[in-house]
Amino acid sequence: MQSLAIVVPVYNEEDNIPHFYASVCEVMQPLAARYRWEVIFVDDGSNDESRAILGTLAARDERVQPVFLSRNYGHQLALTCGLDRALTDVVITMDGDMQHPPALIPELLARFEQGYDVVQTIRRTTEGVSWLKKFSSSFYYKALNAISDIEVRPGGSDFRLLSRPAADALRRFREHDRFIRGMVTQLGFRQTTLSFTAPPRYAGNSKFSPRKMLRLALAGVFGCSTVPLRMGLYFGFVCAMLSLLGFAYVLYVKYVDLDAVPGWATDVSISLLFGSLQLIVLGFIGEYIARIYQEVKNRPLYLVGEEMPRLRQDGMEKKERGAEQA
Ligand code: UDP
Ligand code: MG
Repeated sequence: MQSLAIVVPVYNEEDNIPHFYASVCEVMQPLAARYRWEVIFVDDGSNDESRAILGTLAARDERVQPVFLSRNYGHQLALTCGLDRALTDVVITMDGDMQHPPALIPELLARFEQGYDVVQTIRRTTEGVSWLKKFSSSFYYKALNAISDIEVRPGGSDFRLLSRPAADALRRFREHDRFIRGMVTQLGFRQTTLSFTAPPRYAGNSKFSPRKMLRLALAGVFGCSTVPLRMGLYFGFVCAMLSLLGFAYVLYVKYVDLDAVPGWATDVSISLLFGSLQLIVLGFIGEYIARIYQEVKNRPLYLVGEEMPRLRQDGMEKKERGAEQA
């Protein structure tokens, strides 16, 4: 029997929690013989009845393990708290508003049983989401993938399954400004994806204000890429090349055309030279800051997968069994 923790950050979800809990119970019923499961609700400083509801559920059912954060820290930190507490063989993270359908849990577990360590779900579409939001999200991920060494598929969400080794690896990433879906792609291990259609929220409104959304988007760019810091260097070199052309033109006007106002040539040459120099030096500083940034993140230098790959072990077992029978 394996153990499973379902990690659910909730912020003012009083109308969703009971429904979510009931539907997890229903979905897990047929799997109860194979998985000992628990739901870790991380209450992210709710100020509605969510806390009381979680308290009641926990008193009735010991599989409900609530954690109450001291204030609203935001979805990514609430998720991190849940991941820190989930010490089971398998961990599934999902939202508590039914937009990540619990009905998909058996499919996630089936992939885990096939030997995958990370099962990342991809939203095919979200019912009831505006054209603008879909477009900006797809543009954002394309741009982010282009400037960073992570690869987040458009439609990527924080609905995923992690095996114990993958969850342990993720727990070693302790940076404060977090974009978990980017960090997960950097873990390695055996990853696979599963597409789904996200239904509208069961109850209530989105708890992601435009400000929180922007903060997450910036965490993705600045947390997963140092390209913005290095831009000074690239621009500096491009400007230096262009200013050589400008300088040639200044020499032409001054000595061939003889049409230069006194002092003009010196002025323009100085601005061209120092403009590019300043950008290049800013770029150097950017390079050092980028390195300091990588160091202070203090991520593990490398992650060891596991001593013996699970898939091969199964194969070996089969072979051994075959040998015994022979
Ligand atoms: N959430 C949270 N803290 C926050 C905002 C949201 O824990 O500051 C939770 C929320 O209760 C939900 C999940 O994160 O379970 C996803 O939030 P939401 O559904 O509002 O995001 P959307 O689906 O609109 O992107
Ligand atoms: Mg939602």
